[in-house]
Amino acid sequence: MEFRCIQECSQCCIEREYYPRKKYGKIGVLILPEEKEKIKNLAKKYELKVLILPRIGISKEKDSTSIEILAYQMMGIEKNGNTCPFLDTKSTKRSPHGGFPCKIYDDRPLACRAYPLIESEPITLDQKCKFCKEYKTADDNLNSEIESLLKIKNKMNVDTPFVWRYATGVGEIEDESQIRKGWILEEQN
Ligand code: SF4
Ligand code: SF4
Repeated sequence: MEFRCIQECSQCCIEREYYPRKKYGKIGVLILPEEKEKIKNLAKKYELKVLILPRIGISKEKDSTSIEILAYQMMGIEKNGNTCPFLDTKSTKRSPHGGFPCKIYDDRPLACRAYPLIESEPITLDQKCKFCKEYKTADDNLNSEIESLLKIKNKMNVDTPFVWRYATGVGEIEDESQIRKGWILEEQN
């Protein structure tokens, strides 16, 4: 079945999830180090406030001061972490499938280009995507998503003793007491 966005859907640019667990807070859009400057410049161009936090780090020692950042994340603009700063929810324009348009569509991060793919072999789609909820799977019209996912995986494929994940401190008010902020060593999950 061919992948096609559901008519008028913008869910993946709006809803952010707690990942991998609530204590890590809600995540943002994954940004590779080489994409960070471009995103900052685009934010300047559109006069938008964009918060970019670290996401994944590695270190040779079990010490958070020596972390090398492998990936960042662009946070949502709402207090609860939702809604990408580049999603144009104010204008009357719509994307080809009728959703809110992305202001930087041609320059969007690789992670946005890969979505809703989370694995390419076998092809696995994020079950939170509206299309996937409705049709479960797709095996066609996903070439550019596969290519983007492979590029991200290639960058993340490092052999290092310590992997760290940054807790964003962002989430729903009722979850505040459970959410942490700062680096957490993966082993301590
Ligand atoms: S990728 Fe999925 S969640 Fe995102 S707009 Fe398309 S159908 Fe909706
Ligand atoms: S950069 Fe564009 S495609 Fe990516 S989450 Fe934001 S609005 Fe959506």
